[in-house]
Amino acid sequence: MTQETFKALVLTQQDTDTRYAFQNLTLDALPEGDVLVNVAYSSLNYKDGLAVTGKGKVVRKFPMVPGIDLAGVVAKSDSKNFKVGDEVVLTGWGVGESHWGGFAQKARVNSEWLTRLPRGLDLEQAMAIGTAGFTAMLSVMALEDRGLKPGDGPVVVTGAAGGVGSVAVALLAKLGYTITASTGRAELRDYLETLGANEFIDRQDLGRDAKPLEKETWAGAIDTVGGQTLATVLSQMRYGGTVAACGLAGGTALETTVFPFILRGVALLGIDSVMCEAKRRKRAWSRLAADLPSDRLSKMTHKIGLSEIPRLADSILKGQVRGRVVVDVNATPS
Ligand code: NDP
Repeated sequence: MTQETFKALVLTQQDTDTRYAFQNLTLDALPEGDVLVNVAYSSLNYKDGLAVTGKGKVVRKFPMVPGIDLAGVVAKSDSKNFKVGDEVVLTGWGVGESHWGGFAQKARVNSEWLTRLPRGLDLEQAMAIGTAGFTAMLSVMALEDRGLKPGDGPVVVTGAAGGVGSVAVALLAKLGYTITASTGRAELRDYLETLGANEFIDRQDLGRDAKPLEKETWAGAIDTVGGQTLATVLSQMRYGGTVAACGLAGGTALETTVFPFILRGVALLGIDSVMCEAKRRKRAWSRLAADLPSDRLSKMTHKIGLSEIPRLADSILKGQVRGRVVVDVNATPS
């Protein structure tokens, strides 16, 4: 009997170069795990760009099926928590880095990594959100946990036209915040306005050297850029302001002073989506289902097939992708 095959994007390493190939695999090629998922959709995140191009050393072993997100239907389960037919979502947990991920039509994973598809979202919407949107939600929750309220003053979102940034803008707008969107792409201001941005600041105005303390401007910040941008944002925080730092699109070094912290009581909160514990994960997904308007989610999203991933992996690292990219792993190549 011939074995069922499925399509996957597979990364291999030759010397120090990462290579990709589209392969037809059989189920016995999949790694161990107690749940087999028929993948419907994945998504493209900045980290997938690093993995597929090999420009960031995020893949821990080869061969690897990248894709840090997946959503699909349980096809086989040895877990008491999931049964055949359940709709599930997986983001993070090292999937697509150390365990085969979502850029394939099948995935075998550890049931503890799975979240049930939240009520109010379909599989495609869940992947329009993906790790980027989940991280945006965790960032908003971190600001709220420290007491930020819509009336406190403007919230700046950096890298606003990217995946995390777009979802952060749409969420904050729905929650009633006044948002300043920082973007390097002036041509995307109309787009950001449709998501709910109120004001704009050019990326370069935050990417320049800053004084230790500048004019108190922001009550809150969601920073996806890091580097000098984060340092400048810190120097402009209002007394008691809070920064949720989740990204490094502009750099990993952070040169700042203690003044924003000890003279203005500013808090710098780190956001990690990969190992986020299950209870907070579940809460974040319920909040996304409730607080992210579906019309705005569809405005920020476009859909591709597996074959287009390599091209867009390169574009996302160059900051050229707008909003979110859903990968339909079952689409026939055009
Ligand atoms: P995107 O590429 O979609 O968005 C990044 C945005 O940052 C770009 O769209 C661009 O926005 C801006 N940008 C890009 N390059 C530069 C630069 N050199 N200087 C200043 N701004 C720049 O990526 P994602 O939204 O998927 O991810 C954003 C960041 O968040 C990444 O660093 C990613 O690794 C990180 N991340 C972290 C997670 C965590 O768990 N902590 C989870 C998910 C993502 P614009 O054109 O508007 O200026």
